[in-house]
Amino acid sequence: MNSADITTVKSILSQPQKIVIVPHKNPDGDAMGSCLALYGFLKGMGHMVHVIAPNDYPKFLKWMPCNETVINFEWEAQRAQRLLDESSVIFTLDFNDLSRVGQMESALRAAKADFIMIDHHQQPSDYARVTYSDVSMSSTCEMVYNFIDFLGGAEQVTKEIATNLYTGIMTDTGSFKYRSTSSKTHRVVAELIDKGAENMEIHRQVFDTNSPSRLHLLGVALSNMVILPEYRTAYITLTQEELDAHDFKKGDTEGFVNYGLTLEDIVFALIFIENKEEGIIKISLRSVGDFSVNEFARKHFQGGGHDNAAGGKSDLSMEETIDQFNTILKTYKSRLNP
Ligand code: 5GP
Ligand code: MN
Repeated sequence: MNSADITTVKSILSQPQKIVIVPHKNPDGDAMGSCLALYGFLKGMGHMVHVIAPNDYPKFLKWMPCNETVINFEWEAQRAQRLLDESSVIFTLDFNDLSRVGQMESALRAAKADFIMIDHHQQPSDYARVTYSDVSMSSTCEMVYNFIDFLGGAEQVTKEIATNLYTGIMTDTGSFKYRSTSSKTHRVVAELIDKGAENMEIHRQVFDTNSPSRLHLLGVALSNMVILPEYRTAYITLTQEELDAHDFKKGDTEGFVNYGLTLEDIVFALIFIENKEEGIIKISLRSVGDFSVNEFARKHFQGGGHDNAAGGKSDLSMEETIDQFNTILKTYKSRLNP
């Protein structure tokens, strides 16, 4: 963040504000962690603060400190709308464009508040008074730690704030293994542990609280995996019927897409998940090396994200989506398997 922006933010936050903090739709660990950490910090400064999530999120994130204060826009639309109307500052965290909040988009566009964006996705849109965007960052949580530090607030990081930030850095870096994990990331994480984040307990809460039906669904996903060695690609499909047969709950498919990349020589992995309610196939894309799934998702599947992790969707049926994907893939052969 440049010094002019830091001055602007300091001046805004020097008076008590009515603040709303918003993560992207289908919030993940980094989105919720960054929102809840910032919530704790701003509340500690004496502001009136609410976190409004566009929709629900997985149970494996619901143990996080201050989770009970989160307002779900789908469940409490009127209250959320009122808070947005009355707000003087809106922080948007872990997303780069207002379309990423789904049904909440028009409410955000109508709000008169000053927007502050903190995010690490590519191609940030220009809607905020202050944009703190850095695509080299491991996570929005690492950026929120920096943000707090820029404001001179590192000493105010409590155990709760540290726990929320640790959770988001851990989930967005694949437990500290992705390329964006820097020595600086590890220094921030070390600080968070010093401030009370219980690393072993956090890993356990997020990764070791499976239900039997989720593991069985993973079994189905793995047996559905199609491996295309000539494209160094592997993809998984899950139909609504398969989800229903395994008592699917939000978040149950988190991480499944990564199994494709554990195969030797596979550099491009996808999962296609049918969502009958929304009438879409939700797609998650991952890569290792220089193949940009952000570009692929933007170009072909109404999505985006990062170079090595992106998302998108298709409005066609599963069968048609897979046919379309296979056709598109042919044009990438020389790039995927030079
Ligand atoms: P995931 O596959 O875990 O849902 O998302 C991977 C990355 O892509 C995340 O950084 C996420 O924010 C981003 N992403 C997921 N879905 C979409 C989408 O529909 N549009 C855009 N622009 N980004 C997405
Ligand atoms: Mn993130």
